[in-house]
Amino acid sequence: MAESILVLTHADEAGSELTKASLEVVTAGKVLATRLGACLAIGIVAVDAKSAASSIVSSGTRVLGVSGGAFAHARYASDAAACLALCKAANATIVLAPGSSRFARIAAGVAHRMGGFVDTHITSIGGDACIEVSRWFYRQRIEATITQTARPWFLLLEGGMHAPFANKGSDVEIEKVAVQLPVLRTTVTELRVPAQDAQTIRPDAKMLFVAGAGWTKKQPDGQIHAAEAGDLILNFLNSTGASLGSSKSLVDQGGDGQPVLPFLTHMNQVGQTGSTPRHAKGLSTCCHGEEPHVVGWRFIGERRAISLDTNCGWTRGKADVVYVADAFKVMAKVNELLRRD
Ligand SMILES: Cc1cc2nc3c(=O)[nH]c(=O)nc-3n(C[C@H](O)[C@H](O)[C@H](O)COP(=O)(O)OP(=O)(O)OC[C@H]3O[C@@H](n4cnc5c(N)ncnc54)[C@H](O)[C@@H]3O)c2cc1C
Repeated sequence: MAESILVLTHADEAGSELTKASLEVVTAGKVLATRLGACLAIGIVAVDAKSAASSIVSSGTRVLGVSGGAFAHARYASDAAACLALCKAANATIVLAPGSSRFARIAAGVAHRMGGFVDTHITSIGGDACIEVSRWFYRQRIEATITQTARPWFLLLEGGMHAPFANKGSDVEIEKVAVQLPVLRTTVTELRVPAQDAQTIRPDAKMLFVAGAGWTKKQPDGQIHAAEAGDLILNFLNSTGASLGSSKSLVDQGGDGQPVLPFLTHMNQVGQTGSTPRHAKGLSTCCHGEEPHVVGWRFIGERRAISLDTNCGWTRGKADVVYVADAFKVMAKVNELLRRD
């Protein structure tokens, strides 16, 4: 069966450009369409689809757009109606979309309305004549390959699979797609987001900085220096833009009545029962590097650690470079050097 591929995209919060995740899926769609010799269409949901489309100028690709004030912000009813209209207009058999919170919320509903199927958290698309996609289960321990004969097949793609499509210009022909909006019961009044420096989990950061329980343990002078630890960590994060991870012991401490770093939550925990983030580099500090923690470092490229313990897990082959040193002193020096730059 000849496939008809639709890439669903949406604009960023400013409304002027497609999100990075959307542009990555455009690349995925182009690669897949070329491999299968299938036709490709790109669907855009935005206030003004034409201006958002300037980042996907390319000859030969059909671009469909849904525009209007109702599509400025994420809302189930309007987004689902928009994507449904785009799927019908494109007569799609394969629908690729970014696994953004906006589309993750509606993908299953739209697939159901189209009488199709949906698979989420897709990390690669392969296969020879057919389409085989992969996703991970059980905290990245089991990788499954999935194929479906039912159509339309909706696939929500994880970030980072492809480079964002880049071909800026202004000359895009857009087919306007009309949307039958249902009664809208939800009114979007305003958008509240944490300040940039309040958000310590930054999936796009080049570096992961991990704080371990050592930061709040008694130091060689017999004292705990939790406030100083907090300042050192936040200063480093602010000047580098690194993402903050933590060991389980450190984030559990609040519940145990021990000293805590107030900006850390369980969301920061990396490891077997935490997250498995993806960053080019990682720096572990005051953390012992035990297996249940380090298993969360599977997708960290270059690993470095600062630990006082010459026998910690990092020195036993889990890091590329280990500084056997006092992290308070090392990070104070690093912050000083960063300030000078
Ligand atoms: C089922 C299960 C699931 C688990 N899941 C996870 C998980 O998802 N994530 C996770 O992290 N853990 C997990 N754990 C816990 C894990 O086994 C460890 O207990 C935990 O990672 C230890 O945290 P830590 O290294 O920060 O603390 P500690 O073991 O207390 O180590 C602190 C380290 O800091 C060093 N230190 C102290 N002061 C300094 C200083 N000034 N400079 C440099 N170094 C210093 C010490 O030498 C020590 O090595 C799990 C355990 C189990 C049983």
